[in-house]
Amino acid sequence: MTRPAEYDGLVAVVTGGAAGIGLAIAEELGERGARVAALDLDVGELPDGILGVTCDVTDRASIDAAVAQVVAELGGIDVLVNNAGISAVGTVEDLSDEDWHRVLDVNVVGIARSSAAVLPHLRGSEHAAIVNMCSIGALNGLPQRVAYNASKGAVLALTYAMATDYVGEGIRVNCVSPGTVHTGFVDRMLAKFPDPVKEKAALDARQATGRMVTPQEVADAVAYLASPRSGSTTGTALDVDGGITHL
Ligand code: NAD
Repeated sequence: MTRPAEYDGLVAVVTGGAAGIGLAIAEELGERGARVAALDLDVGELPDGILGVTCDVTDRASIDAAVAQVVAELGGIDVLVNNAGISAVGTVEDLSDEDWHRVLDVNVVGIARSSAAVLPHLRGSEHAAIVNMCSIGALNGLPQRVAYNASKGAVLALTYAMATDYVGEGIRVNCVSPGTVHTGFVDRMLAKFPDPVKEKAALDARQATGRMVTPQEVADAVAYLASPRSGSTTGTALDVDGGITHL
């Protein structure tokens, strides 16, 4: 399918862009005409046309170096998608301090660090946008995911606060809240349960639509929020959740 080329001339950076939802986002923005860099712990084999840059969003020096490489190779940055995220399975009784720090460091502080590194470059763009990856876990108490849910609640608050801080400079900040998306992230989580097949069927059934969300559906939502077409939209969360939150 030919998509509208609303990203012609724009450069997009996607953290955690080498796998799962992030890779789908990177590919979609590329399809729509952007020059795209995927920043990830392990960039592996990326499709042609996506610049892979090794980067750890928990390490400020690593992010600074990655951003400098993107600017040198692609000529600036217009769009930042803060997608990198991890989870930990357990209740408050199960998780260690180390588990908490790891999840919050990637999912929350990672967004702040990456944004701080990219913002000076966004100021040079007429179409600057940041999209943060939230989750239905921000508003729904997903079981056994206490640190993850708390981190995504923080992503929601962070998105609203960043949108407020930068609206005067024409930099829009929004987030997308997917329901359960069928990726490697979910497969690794399912594998930790005694009966992964039963757990998958339960996950499908939780959506009002009866199935998990696809990475492409999340990528399309991100592509809308990051594009010049959503110029009046800032400080919002777009649910892509099969109706789980409100139906
Ligand atoms: P994934 O594990 O398949 O991919 C995540 C990517 O982030 C990986 O390539 C990984 O290497 C990278 N990453 C992890 N830590 C990093 C770090 N410190 N620095 C740089 N990169 C790092 O996960 P996914 O399912 O594609 O999830 C992507 C995002 O979507 C996450 O923020 C996740 O919380 C969110 N999300 C996922 C689902 C789902 O059902 N899969 C639902 C809602 C929200």
